[in-house]
Amino acid sequence: MAGYSVVRGGTIITNDVTRRIIKNGAIVYEDDHILKVGKEEELSKEFEHPDSIIDARRKIIIPGIVQAHTHVMGHLFKGFTEDGAEDAFYKVCLPMEDYITREDAYWLSLVGCIEAVKFGTTMINDIFHYADVTAGVVEKVGIRGVIEQKVFDVKSLGKIGDMDYSRDIDAGMRRLKLNEELIRKWNGSSNGRIRCWVGNHAPDTNSPELLSAGRELADRYGVGIHIHVAQSTREVRYVKKEYGKTSVEFLNSLGFLRDDVVCAHLSFADPKDIAMLEASGAGMAHCPVIMGKFGSFPRIAEFLNSKVTIGLGSDWVSLNPWEDMRAAIEITRSIAKNISLQNAQRAFELATLGSAKLLKADQQVGSIEQGKKADIVIVDPNRPNLVPMRDVLQSLVYNMTGNEVETVICDGKPVVSNFRMVNVDEDSAIRRAQEVAERIWTESGVHQSPT
Ligand SMILES: [Zn+2]
Repeated sequence: MAGYSVVRGGTIITNDVTRRIIKNGAIVYEDDHILKVGKEEELSKEFEHPDSIIDARRKIIIPGIVQAHTHVMGHLFKGFTEDGAEDAFYKVCLPMEDYITREDAYWLSLVGCIEAVKFGTTMINDIFHYADVTAGVVEKVGIRGVIEQKVFDVKSLGKIGDMDYSRDIDAGMRRLKLNEELIRKWNGSSNGRIRCWVGNHAPDTNSPELLSAGRELADRYGVGIHIHVAQSTREVRYVKKEYGKTSVEFLNSLGFLRDDVVCAHLSFADPKDIAMLEASGAGMAHCPVIMGKFGSFPRIAEFLNSKVTIGLGSDWVSLNPWEDMRAAIEITRSIAKNISLQNAQRAFELATLGSAKLLKADQQVGSIEQGKKADIVIVDPNRPNLVPMRDVLQSLVYNMTGNEVETVICDGKPVVSNFRMVNVDEDSAIRRAQEVAERIWTESGVHQSPT
């Protein structure tokens, strides 16, 4: 047998059905998929002549993290939203989006993807402007992505902070057309690493007609839909006033909700909404860090006890899944006054198999198993924050910063090696993203020197 590679030594958190952890393990992979997982001792006899070997002794090997809801360009808003919460989101961030150019989108997407992958993320679900630019960046960086164009038909996103929901129906349909072009050009490309769904932004920023057209587009191409639902008090107020329904009820009444819909946030979903989501099969992209910052955490205990599929996402500003896993545990326990609802294993599952299931990718990614894609992350645990190590998974979930990610393989190819990006120039991306952000801050009139 020829043409295969081996990651050998190290402790493998397989995340397989039995949640097996293999000490002194090895992973053999060929092209984009895993051939075999087991003990190094046994596999080294069976696979004697690999093309390449990655030595992972004294390292920990985990499946690539899957982020169920991101906007990789959204680090542009670092320092604007964290303390400003919903008001800053509507009155600072959304108006600022008008100033992003196509070229800016490249640098902002690039640095966002670099941040995500360097923290161990190998798959994102990203909805934003210039989605085709992001698709190109995902391709170049070497990770996996489900990408959607941000589709809306309010005249100005910047004005809904003041509850101005005037519509421009034609502009909405043009954005949906862009989404269709994105699907036609990119869906299934790069050996299937890139997929494209429909990105109706939210039930308030979309008219019922645009939502129905989005649903129809998704059905026509056999793809899913990524949408924010019950994400803010403004949205909930508008939908109630306009349609007399909760956001979930409203979408359900349009026949919009099915098992191919990923609903981000659901912060204001009530028990009736949760039952409706269960019945429809629509899933939840839970973003605990950003919602914790907003102070509008969803009814997570009810969600966790429901049949709703749940995955984790960082949303924007920062893209650190380890922070999200911890927030998913700690905030849940605090607000539910229940310690046993969440633990390291369950949070890790949400960030891997849970998100993968939402994205209809759990047969391919989310665990290290024979036949699955070779999306493999190697962590260097020889750090003060990770010693002593008793329970491997708990140590990572509770103590990892993300900077311990040494190697990332996606689709069988190296993306991060020895802590550095393989396919793109990280330093220039960071420099350009800072320049781009400063220009946008100045042009949009929100730039203030730190005091
Ligand atoms: Zn979002």
